[in-house]
Amino acid sequence: MLLAWVFVVELAVAAAVPFDPAREHQARPAELIEPARASSGAAKPLVVGDRSIRLISLGGPVADRLLSRIASNMGSAVERVEAFWGVDWSREISVVATASDEQFRTAAGGGPESQWADIAAVTVADQVDPAHRVALGQRIVFAPGAASLSESALRIVLTHELFHYAARADTAMDAPRWVAEGVADFVARPSAPVPAEARSAYPSLPSDIELDTPGPQRSLAYDRAWWFARFVADTYGTPNLRAYYLATSGVGHVDPLAAAHDVLGVDPAGLLARWSQWMVG
Ligand SMILES: [Zn+2]
Repeated sequence: MLLAWVFVVELAVAAAVPFDPAREHQARPAELIEPARASSGAAKPLVVGDRSIRLISLGGPVADRLLSRIASNMGSAVERVEAFWGVDWSREISVVATASDEQFRTAAGGGPESQWADIAAVTVADQVDPAHRVALGQRIVFAPGAASLSESALRIVLTHELFHYAARADTAMDAPRWVAEGVADFVARPSAPVPAEARSAYPSLPSDIELDTPGPQRSLAYDRAWWFARFVADTYGTPNLRAYYLATSGVGHVDPLAAAHDVLGVDPAGLLARWSQWMVG
């Protein structure tokens, strides 16, 4: 017998983290998903501090094993997100492990197979109202392929998605995605040197258009968004990166250059010059 509950989707937002190295991101509505059954974790939620995590398996030993690995990494993921974002976000966290690519595509919002082929996880919500700091029916949905991730890669994916989860209620629907992706990677990924071949001075900010353009440039676009977030944190302090996120992405957000002026106290030319400097190293 099927579980009695289903997700009622009124409005949904997806924030994906792609598998490396081919990175892909799409924001699109999620469709109805109906879990075949819940894992034992759903009956007895995992507790991390004062947060309660529902682990929902859509079936099969692979999904169950993935959930138990997620459970063991959840403490560090919550810790990293709280260290950056603070503690004022949802106490209830839902994580869904899908059992087939088709299930995952449905949960992620449908679309062509190729679009989701390299996506490890998405964060979706039924309803978001940033003006009232409300995000309902959020869940982090993992693709079956996430089972093959190394422990460190899985921890990065989980932490990245958990940042989107935490920030969702404060993120406007029309916020620039490159800021969200860059900051999510800042929270999730360990710092690594910028590769030598990328150490040239970039004259422009990252953009959503670059994130959406298929091909090798897309991976670089995600990395540029990450590097930009690291540059802001290194140069202006981590709390100012958080403030910059809210200024560019919260209710009443302004464009990234105006936000830099308001939050970081730097004009566009100064911002780009400093970023170029940081990139060159
Ligand atoms: Zn993301």
